[in-house]
Amino acid sequence: MTQWVYLFSEGSKEQKGLLGGKGANLAEMTKLGLPVPTGFTVTTDACLCYLNQGNVLTEEMKGQIIQAVDQLAEKTQKAFGDAENPLLVSVRSGSKFSMPGMMDTVLNLGLNDQTVETLARNSQNERFAYDCYRRLLQMFGDVVMGIDNQKFESRITALKKVHQLEFDNELTAEHWKQIVTEYKEIYRQNIQREFPQDPIEQLYLAIEAVFGSWNNQRAKTYRRLHDISDDLGTAVNIQEMVFGNFGETSGTGVVFSRNPSTGEPGLFGEYLINAQGEDVVAGVRTPKPIQTLADDLPEQYQQLKTICENLEKHYKDMQDVEFTIEREKLFILQTRNGKRTSKATITILLDMFNEGLITEDELVMRLEAKDLEASLHPSFQEETLKNRVPFLTGLAASPGAAVGAAYFTADSATLAKARGEKVILVREETSPEDIEGIAVSEAVVTARGGMTSHAAVVARGMGICSVVGCEALTMEEDQGIVGGETIQEGTILSVDGTTGSVYFGEISLEELSNTVALDDLHEIWDRHAKFQVRANAETPKDIETAMALGATGIGLARTEHMFFEKSRLLQFRRLILADSLNERLEVLKHLKQVQKDDFKFIYQAAQGKATTIRLLDPPLHEFLPKNNDECREVAKDLGKTFNEVKRKTDNLAETNPMLGFRGLRLGVAYPEIYQMQGEAIIEAAYEVMNEQGYEIQPEIMIPFTIDAEEFARVRESIETAIQTSLAQYEQEINYQIGTMIEIPRACLVADQIAKYADFFSFGTNDLTQMVLGLSRDDSPRIVTQYLEAGIMQDDPFQVLDEDGVGAMMKIAIEKGRQVKPDLKIGICGEAAAHPKSIAFLNQLPINYISCSPFRIPQAKMTLAQHGV
Ligand code: ADP
Ligand code: MG
Ligand code: MG
Repeated sequence: MTQWVYLFSEGSKEQKGLLGGKGANLAEMTKLGLPVPTGFTVTTDACLCYLNQGNVLTEEMKGQIIQAVDQLAEKTQKAFGDAENPLLVSVRSGSKFSMPGMMDTVLNLGLNDQTVETLARNSQNERFAYDCYRRLLQMFGDVVMGIDNQKFESRITALKKVHQLEFDNELTAEHWKQIVTEYKEIYRQNIQREFPQDPIEQLYLAIEAVFGSWNNQRAKTYRRLHDISDDLGTAVNIQEMVFGNFGETSGTGVVFSRNPSTGEPGLFGEYLINAQGEDVVAGVRTPKPIQTLADDLPEQYQQLKTICENLEKHYKDMQDVEFTIEREKLFILQTRNGKRTSKATITILLDMFNEGLITEDELVMRLEAKDLEASLHPSFQEETLKNRVPFLTGLAASPGAAVGAAYFTADSATLAKARGEKVILVREETSPEDIEGIAVSEAVVTARGGMTSHAAVVARGMGICSVVGCEALTMEEDQGIVGGETIQEGTILSVDGTTGSVYFGEISLEELSNTVALDDLHEIWDRHAKFQVRANAETPKDIETAMALGATGIGLARTEHMFFEKSRLLQFRRLILADSLNERLEVLKHLKQVQKDDFKFIYQAAQGKATTIRLLDPPLHEFLPKNNDECREVAKDLGKTFNEVKRKTDNLAETNPMLGFRGLRLGVAYPEIYQMQGEAIIEAAYEVMNEQGYEIQPEIMIPFTIDAEEFARVRESIETAIQTSLAQYEQEINYQIGTMIEIPRACLVADQIAKYADFFSFGTNDLTQMVLGLSRDDSPRIVTQYLEAGIMQDDPFQVLDEDGVGAMMKIAIEKGRQVKPDLKIGICGEAAAHPKSIAFLNQLPINYISCSPFRIPQAKMTLAQHGV
């Protein structure tokens, strides 16, 4: 025989699947000895069986229900329909997951024309009894019989009007009696039946209605939207009624054991004196803050407080508790883990850890990415967002949310910002010249480009929200077109970089919570993490952000955009257009000075933490004048002829610069450039060490290596320069010269390269592009198609491609460590920080990953979770 019915005293909180969340917790609280009105639960299995067998309660179920009712009667010394002591119950639905849309609760079941009289007599309060009865008629009619609640409510409204009364609680016993008569009439009119007088019949009907509501449209939709299975079913809880509407020493309310929006400790909630059930949420009367209960009913307040504290200890989580006080006696009607804001989540977890309620492992495991995200980036208010549909979607390139006016160029953006506007930069795509425009913007939206496009990388680095690769957007000079809609300069947009959505108009932002709490977490995370998380950052501001967000060092400080700044760009052009070594050395002398300052800033901001500086990497092509006009300009600036500049430029131009003259190849062709950078790095380190007292061991990183001999030569030339530099000092500086591993060949000959390299750092963007033969700039169209077709599971530029790129990395690691068992190995590509990538990387013997500053906390959190 299947057990379809469980007394509260039989179940436990582990049985949410069978008893539903509400039932399991009522059982648990009963077991803990808390003052829970007695009752029993009809299981979710019974619900599924009922639905499968043509919507009938089997005789077996009915038998068990009757038996449980008898036990309830025995315990309470009351009985259904009893002339002295009538048993009244509530019928409450409750599935495994809290699920609005399911059938509502029916209170006061068991009342009928006779028992209402008894209730009036026993309570010596006729008004109370008839109010209870009309509530039953109303709830039962609405919820079980499907009669529109408005039909009932309108009668009360009409009556109040006749007697010129404002509130329900001003109605008298006679009024409620009249309402009861009218309600019964509504039954006859709407369902051609009398309200069932037999409590057992009421009970069966109510249980059947709860079971049936599992399949109502509201519930189905809710499940679909929240990914809840249709096969769970709902349980039904039948529980002895207690009355908060018994007079001035009764009441009902809802409390959280801590503040659900800030996380602050202490009870938080509301209650009403002389009220029943849903009155508190129904908004008929304004509830009072829970603290004033300490004055109204001090003893009960203390008891409630203690119970909440104990429930928290028991559940190890903030609780959301329903209570009712009947003539000074406190009852607990429900407890569950309370919903809370992300900010509150972090605060509560840390507090509970400090209070000894949860262990360090639990603290680490219970934080979720979305909570961190919300404490680092602004987000839109959930409530407001619910009713809004984005007109444009793209890749969620950089998290956060922002509202502002659209501008199409860096210049117009900068001007608008200067006028005091909040700006959203909307462009086809961005390039290094747009940096300033990005910096003044609240968000960046581009029509083209993937997760590693310029806009995405720069926005992420700056912590600015960004949506890229919005394929539906066509940019014209003075407007953006999306289907039938247009964006003009000045159009107000709301951009959600966390979901990749763009909306017309303004959506309210959630207040940003402070990040102070993170400080405490970093220490804990670091203890559990298998490897470190460094930052990709080079500007002092980014490095400071990275340090504040817990970076253990700098894994990648790029030196190229230092050259894109106007005056330096000119110098650099002079360098590559020079006719002689002498002319080049002249320029380099000047550049060395500015680079040294750059590096000093980097070291200072990094506060002595490990810092890897990458030597110049970008294709030479990018520095060339772009057209005849620019050639003419450069010629004038440099005192050369147009033809000279033009010829040189044409000579250096490439069809495929990304696979051309860049990285180490520049170092081979112009050793003096890397020599200059090497010297500047060492000299900057020396000065900062002496001025600031930091211990600095520069890590010099050479990009784009393909070959051991290639690397060895360039290393040697850099070292020669460094040695000369060092000769001026009395002090030794421990430096390392390592390489990026970002080309498949480098992986395959990693053992040879490791003979000369002090460390490896995988560059996953280039490595992915080359292992997959997939241009990182043009990938979105292809990747989107592959994702839709199910050929790819994830964008390989967002989630490390374990089978291809990952396998390549494994080869390189193994080969490298064969030669140098202690070889330091890092990864400096953004994809490494993705939680899925971390799950894979956690199995590899690497020393660190490096990502943009704002992704550090989440990366560390994920890493720590793998370490628990
Ligand atoms: P919901 O899931 O919508 O909160 P509940 O089943 O918790 O529905 O009940 C709705 C309201 O009725 C709550 O305020 C609850 O406290 C009250 N209630 C439920 N059962 C009883 C009972 N046996 N006695 C008194 N009030 C009850
Ligand atoms: Mg409800
Ligand atoms: Mg409830």
